[in-house]
Amino acid sequence: MAGRTLSPFSFLSLGPPPLILPLAAQRGTNMNRWGIPAWLEDEVRKRDKDCVYCGIQMIEKLSPNGPRKAVATWEHIVNDASLITRENIARCCAACNSSKGTKKLAVWLESSYCKRRGINKDTVAEIVKVALRVDA
Ligand SMILES: [Zn+2]
Repeated sequence: MAGRTLSPFSFLSLGPPPLILPLAAQRGTNMNRWGIPAWLEDEVRKRDKDCVYCGIQMIEKLSPNGPRKAVATWEHIVNDASLITRENIARCCAACNSSKGTKKLAVWLESSYCKRRGINKDTVAEIVKVALRVDA
């Protein structure tokens, strides 16, 4: 192979010099596929053992006998993918996640799904109550 072949990543060398990242960001270079830094993922995993919305105990992986709707999923409480903070990243069950979809939290809490299950602003996890106050 002769000549210069530009790699698809050659533009990287044309960018500005690397910034000195704060420690938290450096630790965050190891991201999961939702762009959540590993340290935050660990923290939230330890915090949210139960669905932050309906409170059921979640399972990590779908097992042949386990209920699919209880599988833990990653959730942006406020639907803004750029809000990757311990206040906005939470874990909820697959049933709540698919029901909430892209709805605004306050709107979703009024849905028939929440009404049927008795989910409201007083029953959700503390982290969700905080988000409700901010995103009201
Ligand atoms: Zn749930």
